Amino acid sequence: MSKTNVRAYGTEAADAPLDAMTIARREPTSRDVEIAIQYCGVCHSDLHTARNDWGGTKYPAVPGHEIVGKVTGLGDDVRDLKVGDTVAVGCMVDSCGECENCKNDLEQYCVRGFTGTYNGKDKHLGGHTFGGYSEKVVEDRHFVLKVPENLDLAGTAPLLCAGITTWSPLRHWKVGKGSKVAVVGLGGLGHMAIKLAAALGAEVSLFSRSPGKKQDAHDLGAHDVIISTNEEEMKGAKSTFDVIIDTVPYEHDLTPYVNTLNVNGTLVLVGYLGNMDEMLNSVPMIMGRRSVAGSVIGGIAETQELLDFCGEHNITSEIEVIDMKEINDAYERMLKSDVRYRFVIDMASFKDN
Ligand code: NAP
Ligand code: ZN
Repeated sequence: MSKTNVRAYGTEAADAPLDAMTIARREPTSRDVEIAIQYCGVCHSDLHTARNDWGGTKYPAVPGHEIVGKVTGLGDDVRDLKVGDTVAVGCMVDSCGECENCKNDLEQYCVRGFTGTYNGKDKHLGGHTFGGYSEKVVEDRHFVLKVPENLDLAGTAPLLCAGITTWSPLRHWKVGKGSKVAVVGLGGLGHMAIKLAAALGAEVSLFSRSPGKKQDAHDLGAHDVIISTNEEEMKGAKSTFDVIIDTVPYEHDLTPYVNTLNVNGTLVLVGYLGNMDEMLNSVPMIMGRRSVAGSVIGGIAETQELLDFCGEHNITSEIEVIDMKEINDAYERMLKSDVRYRFVIDMASFKDN
């Protein structure tokens, strides 16, 4: 298959900084869309992957799965987009398309596994997929989203992961007017969860370790902020919430949060991937018919639904725009929870140097 070289930013090893490199992109097939990337959001998953936190990272690794840009080329079979359209790509670029989950718009739960935008299996060129820290991508039309015209483009990028990852459980657990929702952790995912739950009509609270984020949380739409390290405040929130969206990236004790669920309430883990060891006690689950669940990103139709909802409600992410070469510093700041509330790379900065 013919391919072209494009410039990208990635890493050769878990302990190496990200740097400029050249990667191959396929020439568009009849089903493909070629996109010049304008902005790419920086997700904590990018950092986990670059540093092999989850194991299984293939190098060189080029992260980035919050991609927005302009169509520059189209395969012959793609008739509902045109060159110049503003489009987006999120966390998935392929799935089997045949299993029940794919047929039901749940590509993220494809029984054969979805293909990640980065670190997935590249069935076209062999090897693995490379993400959005690059000049352009070529992706199957099915996995390309349309961006509402009124939205700020840089602020739209994080909707493609932070947005959909919190939107999907809010929708699945039927959050709306009258729901009491709490969000654990005010970062990229957490701030989108607050905005989206509030826009759906829920009363939203934040659990945070960071008292300094209180005012921001209120400005984003939270009614209440509970400092999770303060035992009295945690006790005061007992048996309150219908749904909790837990975005914390690292292992942590879940039981104090489960205690704040109302009867029949559900805590949805979206942040931490891994063993929980002694982090969950069954007693508060049994005594309150409470559930602990998990959720990964969202389907393609659901992602389009989110983008359209954000268009209607004029919702975008709170961002700090950075140059491509600032990415290593951005990772260090993300580890210190020092970002308000998503870094987004301006790809024009990459072309200039
Ligand atoms: P982020 O911007 O770094 O935000 C995480 C927040 O969690 C921090 O701002 C902090 O909030 C809190 N936190 C961080 N470390 C903590 C610790 N050790 N203990 C307690 N709280 C801590 O990260 P993100 O981009 O939102 O991503 C969050 C997680 O979701 C990552 O692990 C990422 O890989 C995962 N993720 C999952 C999916 C999915 O499909 N399920 C999709 C995307 C990302 P406070 O300062 O308010 O406490
Ligand atoms: Zn992500």
